[in-house]
Amino acid sequence: MTSTTNNPAHHRHRQLGDHTWQADAVCQSTEYNPVDPETFFPEPDETAKIVTAKSLCGQCPVRRACLDAALEGGDTDGIRGGLTEEERGPLHEKIAQRLDYSRVNDTIDGRDIHLSKSERRAVVHAAYRHGVSEQRLAWLLKITEEHAQKLYRELRRALRNRDLNQPTTVTSPPEAGGERLVRDDFGTAA
Ligand code: SF4
Repeated sequence: MTSTTNNPAHHRHRQLGDHTWQADAVCQSTEYNPVDPETFFPEPDETAKIVTAKSLCGQCPVRRACLDAALEGGDTDGIRGGLTEEERGPLHEKIAQRLDYSRVNDTIDGRDIHLSKSERRAVVHAAYRHGVSEQRLAWLLKITEEHAQKLYRELRRALRNRDLNQPTTVTSPPEAGGERLVRDDFGTAA
């Protein structure tokens, strides 16, 4: 049984390749709203440009999507989502370490979203726990079926090794029933 949901309200993450948010970007230059793109690529000492760009970002309805797209795409140039290159630097490093279970759940639900390495591993783990087929895993992660088979094989080996390394001398009290709890029910993680 899976505890993930198909409720659209549950999905909070931008799909990869979705650039529709750009249509609402305040920095999109139009006849009625001319914007100099150079404003968003200031030198560190061009304070006036930075203030102008940040002010535009401050009014932008797609600021979050813009920042996510920059971080996920490794776009380190210019001002994005209201942050300068220097301000975004630590976030670029942090995203590589991210482990967000809501992303894992969204991926299991079939959404094509950005995943860190840890999140991809968690998807494999959750898919295995939920009995997701290798074909489906391949589709979810946009990898070949052979690769999906390899990921499951490696996971099975890791789980077996973990079980073998469990201490065997511990005598469980009768009320424990010998059942081992696992922390991989990603359905409740947020
Ligand atoms: S947040 Fe700033 S850089 Fe991003 S789309 Fe909006 S105005 Fe442009």
